[in-house]
Amino acid sequence: MIPQKEILKALEAYHPKKMAIGTICSHSALQIFHGAKREGFRTVGICTEDRRELYESYPLARPDVIIPVKKFSDVLSDRVQSELLAENVVIIPHGSFVEYVGAKNLEDQFRVPVFGNRRSLQWESSRKQVKEWLKKSNCLVPKEFKHPKDIDRICIVKFSGAKGGRGFFLTTSEEDYKRKMQEKIQKRVVSAEEAQHVTIQEFVNGVRYYPHYFSSPFENNGKGRVELLSMDKRLESNVEEIYRILAAGTLQELKINPTYVVTGNAPQTIRESLLPELYGMGRRVHESSKKLFGGIVGPYCIECVVTPELDIYSFEISARIVAGTNLYPEGSFLSAYLFKEPMSTGRRIARELKTAITKKALDQVVY
Ligand code: ATP
Repeated sequence: MIPQKEILKALEAYHPKKMAIGTICSHSALQIFHGAKREGFRTVGICTEDRRELYESYPLARPDVIIPVKKFSDVLSDRVQSELLAENVVIIPHGSFVEYVGAKNLEDQFRVPVFGNRRSLQWESSRKQVKEWLKKSNCLVPKEFKHPKDIDRICIVKFSGAKGGRGFFLTTSEEDYKRKMQEKIQKRVVSAEEAQHVTIQEFVNGVRYYPHYFSSPFENNGKGRVELLSMDKRLESNVEEIYRILAAGTLQELKINPTYVVTGNAPQTIRESLLPELYGMGRRVHESSKKLFGGIVGPYCIECVVTPELDIYSFEISARIVAGTNLYPEGSFLSAYLFKEPMSTGRRIARELKTAITKKALDQVVY
């Protein structure tokens, strides 16, 4: 793992007034560039040729500088890293960044300063660690089953890695599990190797919420503050609108299994009486992260389900900006109570970086 002091050394060579915000042109990049520009930063996009037209088509969100790449994983190459360092870039790691580059490679090979604590990206990439993190944060988590023979309720079967729900399936018994897994392998949805490393988790029936938090070490007179900036609900294909097919028969008759592949996001609010617990969860996840890996800085999200009993179950943490924040470039129904100006998560990141530059405290928000 590259030590933080090495990254801070690279940062010392940066000119504070010329510091730029950069990321891969995907996921939440438009929002990140838009927010950075509003805070007065130059912006740098790492872009493949096929996406260039789109990213240049939005005058208020287009990157000032484009670093062309053949494929996004080229961001690890010496050429791209040197260009990023020469442009004085602080990278904002989003979901696609972590997916294309890999959390381990980011820790071991990426010499460019990254906003936040890069160790949190390694923590979010392991389901086992996320479970430990959630438990240590006193969050309610769905029950897990080690062996398919123990399945005694509706379960969701997950494959490892940030796959955006790809390949997941529902099951109700060992027999059903074996049949569906065999089908997945035969159809090459997953490999036999991937089938060995699954999480069998109780399916929590309720309404999903994806609250967007931001932890700032500077607010509250330097004591730090966790902000609940906004929330969304992920749109997942095909489960989202599967009811539209039910006029033709039951799902069993039609041999259709629900799938959970993310295609987009929708805005969502929660009843105000549930806000205290939702906020508390974000604060506790932040608190426990300090003991586990030195603390989470900047944006993060807890994926949860609210049951009819109004219990909030958490099943995943994203330790970086999530794409659901793209709904709120002009701020949200919650950020309005925190900031007088429109505050997206992208802009919030840029604001925090600006504060760190002014306070000469970049070591608190960059690794
Ligand atoms: P990402 O990394 O993009 O968040 P992932 O591959 O880690 O995706 P999850 O986020 O764990 O997958 O799950 C994908 C989707 O499956 C969720 O958004 C949700 O709709 C559904 N889901 C996951 N776990 C549960 C659960 N225990 N109960 C009900 N639904 C669930």
